[in-house]
Amino acid sequence: MNGESELYDLTIIGGGPAGLYAAFYGGMRDMKTKLIEAREELGGRTVMYPNKIVWDIGGVPPTRCGQITSRMIEQAMTFEPTIVLGQQIAGLERLIDGTMVVTSDRGERHHTRSLILAVGHGALKQAKLAIEGAERFEAANLHYSVTDLEVYRGKRILISGGGDSAVDWANELERVAASVALVHRRNRFTGHELNVKRMKESSVEVRTPYAIKELHGDGDRIEEVSIARLDSEGQPSEPPERLAVDAVIVNHGLRGDFGRIVDWGLEMGDWNIRADAKLATNIPGVFVAGDTADHPGKLHLIAGAFADAALAVNGAKRYLDPEAPRAASVSSHNAKFDEKNSALSR
Ligand SMILES: Cc1cc2nc3c(=O)[nH]c(=O)nc-3n(C[C@H](O)[C@H](O)[C@H](O)COP(=O)(O)OP(=O)(O)OC[C@H]3O[C@@H](n4cnc5c(N)ncnc54)[C@H](O)[C@@H]3O)c2cc1C
Repeated sequence: MNGESELYDLTIIGGGPAGLYAAFYGGMRDMKTKLIEAREELGGRTVMYPNKIVWDIGGVPPTRCGQITSRMIEQAMTFEPTIVLGQQIAGLERLIDGTMVVTSDRGERHHTRSLILAVGHGALKQAKLAIEGAERFEAANLHYSVTDLEVYRGKRILISGGGDSAVDWANELERVAASVALVHRRNRFTGHELNVKRMKESSVEVRTPYAIKELHGDGDRIEEVSIARLDSEGQPSEPPERLAVDAVIVNHGLRGDFGRIVDWGLEMGDWNIRADAKLATNIPGVFVAGDTADHPGKLHLIAGAFADAALAVNGAKRYLDPEAPRAASVSSHNAKFDEKNSALSR
């Protein structure tokens, strides 16, 4: 349930490390908290590198990022915040009583007394194939995700990309397709090494460093694709060659899009939002946290996102109640954990 008409103390936009930790810390500060994420899953940029082993979070020995993402989500749920997925926040209104309404790009409305923008580099969306006019093929056989393998049974498939999804799709489709070719602009793959090995040992035709240069087709269907080998500058080093295909699947990672937030009147840098040392922006009641925050001590790491989140929640708390303590009591002195501690000690 979205709780759209309910008034929240704190609404957090963005479900990456900063937003997730802010959701936890909002509970520590007894704030009625909602988190809204544009994508259908939580985790922010950490979902881009689930297999990477992360070494640089204090107190966390080397751990695969997928596990860190799961733990961040689990911690965020401690005080049962309302979570809304699949809504990109676009608009901000101030009501006469000083509360705010944020609106999604589809018109859903969320009432709140304070706001934290934990939006990273903007709402994460699949990067499109950078070829002019490519969108005209999207309805027919240019795809950015694979939902049903059966669609590709007996077909000739070309995949572009070198990350986890591209490699996983190549391995899955190899079992059903007539043929699978994969082009990647680098020799090195970022996908899980075991899956890369499996792909290279299979019938998948792997071409690196190669890129798609042109799509050919009458009307809205791609029939052939020109691919070219790249030199060290990323430019074609040989004349392109044409491959006949039934479908092209592209996975070039996620790109951020700030959308209409740039029109809110926030003081902005090129790709981030200015804030003071307490993470307050120039709009009263609106705070920032994580990669989107531009402040003198900014650390563009997961650890920095956590610190920003706690500071931003404390700022929001004292915006609503200037007499409130500067921070939440630490775990050992916090009565909120008494019951949970007893349950854990049993
Ligand atoms: C490949 C890679 C490797 C990295 N490795 C490390 C590492 O080893 N260690 C480390 O500490 N850091 C690492 N980082 C950096 C780390 O991932 C970021 O610092 C961290 O994810 C920032 O968290 P965030 O919550 O500020 O933003 P993000 O993780 O970017 O999350 C922002 C979220 O907000 C959502 N959003 C944006 N706009 C809207 C909107 N209008 N409405 C609703 N939702 C919205 C987005 O969809 C996204 O989910 C790496 C980053 C990358 C890309």
